[in-house]
Amino acid sequence: MTAQLIDGNALARQVRAEVAGRVTALKQRGIQPHLAVILVGDNPASQVYVRNKVADSEQTGLKATLERYPAALPQAELLARIRALNADANVHGILVQLPLPPHMDAQAVIETIAPAKDVDGFHVASAGALMVGRPGFRPCTPSGCMRMLESIGYKLKGKHAVVMGRSNIVGKPMALMLLAQNATVTLCHSATLDLARHTRDADVIVAAVGKRNVLTGGMVKPGAVVIDVGMNRDDHGKLCGDVDFADVSQIAGWITPVPGGVGPMTRAMLLVNTIEAAERSA
Ligand code: NAP
Repeated sequence: MTAQLIDGNALARQVRAEVAGRVTALKQRGIQPHLAVILVGDNPASQVYVRNKVADSEQTGLKATLERYPAALPQAELLARIRALNADANVHGILVQLPLPPHMDAQAVIETIAPAKDVDGFHVASAGALMVGRPGFRPCTPSGCMRMLESIGYKLKGKHAVVMGRSNIVGKPMALMLLAQNATVTLCHSATLDLARHTRDADVIVAAVGKRNVLTGGMVKPGAVVIDVGMNRDDHGKLCGDVDFADVSQIAGWITPVPGGVGPMTRAMLLVNTIEAAERSA
């Protein structure tokens, strides 16, 4: 391996320590930062995610309340609960775990969250704020990727960044955040012709596709920074990313591992958004 590793676990620990310090400072002013997490239904992956989010929060001194509802919960009841949390001055962040059951309109649910408490950054007001460069909550995964680039002192100005994947929660906000740092950004997707032509020219590649080995060594410029957002399973059921790690790490200058890369940083950035929400309300 020639690439240097960007250690998401170590960086996330650092971020959590920063958050813990900010929590202490708020508590000294009599404010207990509080995240409300809502889980509807019993999706097994979602149950693990919400448990982790609550545990991470508590570890930094943030209060986290998990509210569980049955999959059959009428959407109107969920919206009423969100409105009550919006109005509760003791709740600073609200997170509705996705996916929601099929009878619900996820976007309508997200848009019921007050933008000031939208710590996932999925509200259309948060997305719009990112688009026009105004303050607002940024989605946690691309924020975590930006923090990883920052951690290696990488200067994005004038660099060519290629983002693979254009979802609303990862690819699109990632492209906008790179653009805001003056990178020249190419946003690729499933209809992109000759993906390798773009990636081979990239100084930074963010892979957020959800397919194993979609980025191989031959698609990477020597020395490039490769951030792997993907979360997939290999033939043995082991967690792996979108990047052929063994191959790409021979070519890239920097690379994030899976597991231990973007995943822990995503979790850490939720804590950053929550403490920010609490600080802004103070
Ligand atoms: P998504 O909504 O399924 O989006 C995938 C994107 O990849 C789409 O824009 C799709 O294009 C594009 N795509 C598909 N095949 C492609 C190809 N061959 N070349 C280039 N682009 C291609 O997924 P997501 O929610 O953004 O998540 C992406 C991956 O990141 C998943 O593995 C997910 O589990 C993982 N993830 C990880 C974290 C974390 O914390 N580590 C957080 C979020 C997501 P079209 O738009 O044309 O369909």
